[in-house]
Amino acid sequence: MNQKRVFSGTRPTGRLHLGNYLGAVKGYLALQERNDLDCIYCVVDLHGITTPYEPDKMQAQIKEVVLDYLACGLDPKKCHLLVQSQVPEHTELAYFLSTIYPVSRVEQLPTYKEKKKENPDYINVGLFYYPILMAADILLYKANLVPVGKDQLPHIELAREVVRKFNQMFGQVFSEPQAFETKGTYVPSLTGSGKMSKSTESSFILLTDDLKTIKEKLAKMPTDMGKGEAAPKEGPIANLFTLVSLFMGDKVVKDYQKQYITSGVKYSQLKEELAKAIFDELKPIQARRLKYEKQPEVVTQILGEGREHCSKIAQQTLLEVKKAMGLA
Ligand code: ADP
Repeated sequence: MNQKRVFSGTRPTGRLHLGNYLGAVKGYLALQERNDLDCIYCVVDLHGITTPYEPDKMQAQIKEVVLDYLACGLDPKKCHLLVQSQVPEHTELAYFLSTIYPVSRVEQLPTYKEKKKENPDYINVGLFYYPILMAADILLYKANLVPVGKDQLPHIELAREVVRKFNQMFGQVFSEPQAFETKGTYVPSLTGSGKMSKSTESSFILLTDDLKTIKEKLAKMPTDMGKGEAAPKEGPIANLFTLVSLFMGDKVVKDYQKQYITSGVKYSQLKEELAKAIFDELKPIQARRLKYEKQPEVVTQILGEGREHCSKIAQQTLLEVKKAMGLA
């Protein structure tokens, strides 16, 4: 069968949070069910070293992401799991692509600007290069669909531009990938501003958090009087309502929005219900994680299979690219 391909990845910068789960992994799960698609889900460790990290913890962090993937229900019978640095062609292709892409365009990317602000003492060439490496990750496998959260859309656009430029300069090798978004494409931060992110302290709920921790984290979310002329469209209350909508459904959030302009919202009750709804969704994920934690050899085997599958495709693409560019 002539399958299309799916590729996506997560940085090993900590355990997965609700943003990663709703914005990315839910998309991975939906696509692995389609047998017209060959799905590759990666731990992008080469991206993980562009921001400050501890080398002696890296291998453990990679395992954490793999465990979270499996815990969420990624099924090695339906998809391939890969550690990016195990297939060296990622960096090789990134270098080739970097030679055809303008510096000025990368400089404009919002994620690069944000990361520079987050770590002003750690603005390295790799960080700048990150979107080119991401384009290479996708194009190495000639992926057609890329399930990602909203924050990554500019990078998918960049990958599409790279394809157009490459094909124009060297002949048709790649086709333009498309982003695949879920309902939770933008999960807001618990702090009230920006997105939920591993790199922002107190912004996230982890998939491994227990009910008590979830309650404590929600309790810290800033609130207001619970009443006003219109339900807020941005800021902490809007974020709280977004979480309600994602975990309890649109009808429940509409009820709360109505309460906001009538009787007033009791946030303690809302947060209690929301904590339970979140934990209900996380319970089976946590149970599956425990199972895999006890079987490290199974996890190693899954990654070995992923590497073997991906290496073959990567070598084939690289050869095509080198021929097209006059290097082979
Ligand atoms: P983080 O920003 O937490 O370090 P990554 O950069 O590793 O996460 O992103 C992994 C995937 O999770 C990407 O597809 C990204 O778009 C998605 N993602 C990250 N944060 C969120 C969020 N708050 N809402 C929706 N999707 C998100």
